[in-house]
Amino acid sequence: MIMEAMAATSPGSIGTPSDTGDLAPDLSPVAAGVLEDLWLAPTPYHAVARTSALLVEAGFEQVPHDQPLPATDGPRFVVQGGSLVAWIQHHTAEGYTVVGAHSDSPNLRVRTRPDVSGAGFAQIGMEIYGGVLLNSWLDRDLGLAGRVSVAGPEGPEERLFNDGRPLLRIPQLAIHLDREIRDSGLKLDPQKHMMPLWALGEGTEGDLRAYVAASLKVEPDQILAWDLMTYDTQPPAVVGRDSDLYASGRIDNLVSAFSATRSLVELASAVHDDGSTPTRTPIVVIYDHEEIGSESSTGAGGPFLTTIMERIAAARGQDRATYLASLARSVVISADGAHATHPNYVDKHDPSHHIALNAGVVVKRNANQRYATDTTSEAFAVAAARAAEVPLQYYIHRNDLPCGSTIGPITAARTGMATVDIGVPQLAMHSAREMAGLADLDHLHTLLNAFWRAPK
Ligand code: ZN
Repeated sequence: MIMEAMAATSPGSIGTPSDTGDLAPDLSPVAAGVLEDLWLAPTPYHAVARTSALLVEAGFEQVPHDQPLPATDGPRFVVQGGSLVAWIQHHTAEGYTVVGAHSDSPNLRVRTRPDVSGAGFAQIGMEIYGGVLLNSWLDRDLGLAGRVSVAGPEGPEERLFNDGRPLLRIPQLAIHLDREIRDSGLKLDPQKHMMPLWALGEGTEGDLRAYVAASLKVEPDQILAWDLMTYDTQPPAVVGRDSDLYASGRIDNLVSAFSATRSLVELASAVHDDGSTPTRTPIVVIYDHEEIGSESSTGAGGPFLTTIMERIAAARGQDRATYLASLARSVVISADGAHATHPNYVDKHDPSHHIALNAGVVVKRNANQRYATDTTSEAFAVAAARAAEVPLQYYIHRNDLPCGSTIGPITAARTGMATVDIGVPQLAMHSAREMAGLADLDHLHTLLNAFWRAPK
């Protein structure tokens, strides 16, 4: 069940499918697909490569980000780093239906000079990425993956890296040496306590670089830069007495990213088969950097989506005034994880907004606009859910706890488009291994399919 080592630049060769389908033969095709996606995408770069592969297989054309978009109709996508925009271009479409999600998840990321030592162990220096539940990374068999820039004959080349085996481990301190843990709980210092060990002996500068270079079959000094990060090497698993729940890393938010992609792929094949087109241009945008606030060139705070939408309009011969007016006819569905009510911490949840697993897609609302949902966008979502017979649940954060946020409010603020925040319910958000319900994967899929053609 270990991912095969991969060192590929092309999206089509990102690894072989795991045997997650064997864990529960009764999985719906939708659930089986998303569980496989979760397993094959340990980093945002692998998520984008996997998404690209699914799109190419479905006939989408990849347009280089630095090239003009073709004027002709057709399904297309553009990749930038850990982000991707895919759409079905059609000359009669007015405005946009955008489903947005994010490709990143909280984890530990390798420092520029990572080789450190302690008490006879070689260790890897890490930075904490996003709001990590630090304890969830202890005592797990951790893999290392990401992207590496390698000097090639014609300049830097980006390669995907996945060592494919449990390379790193952060052992927890034994309870006999941490007596306070009984009274005051586990306290972890992010600078001191989150350094994985990976070998016995002294760690000397260049060790990890040499290891990565050998895996990529290049010389160490060919490595120019990297984004390398940890992931849990345990594959997704169907869990529970009734086999209706699952556990996996990166449920937040690869479930939304891959559900959106697979829904767009289905729409493209329907458009191809029956010639019918949605009235608005359907777009899926998968952003990097949501977990650290979205302010980056490839995050929701950057220009990635708006420039692509404007370029689609220009490619179709629309002037800027017409493009700007079309935004008023557009809608954004921001899909991201939602908090299910935790049975051991019921008092952390608003008592009149109980959220259950496998009970439907969650609509998230916040009076202080930590979620972008408003009356217009909520009505759009509710009407679509009713038409598609998908159950909805409603999330409101407690007044006495600070509310998290997502790409919805940022996209709404940058584009001015009506935006609704939705998502599948889950437990243990931001753990290395989260938990959710299988039926909600089908609920989300059905609802996303309904959004493309729903009237605004
Ligand atoms: Zn998220």
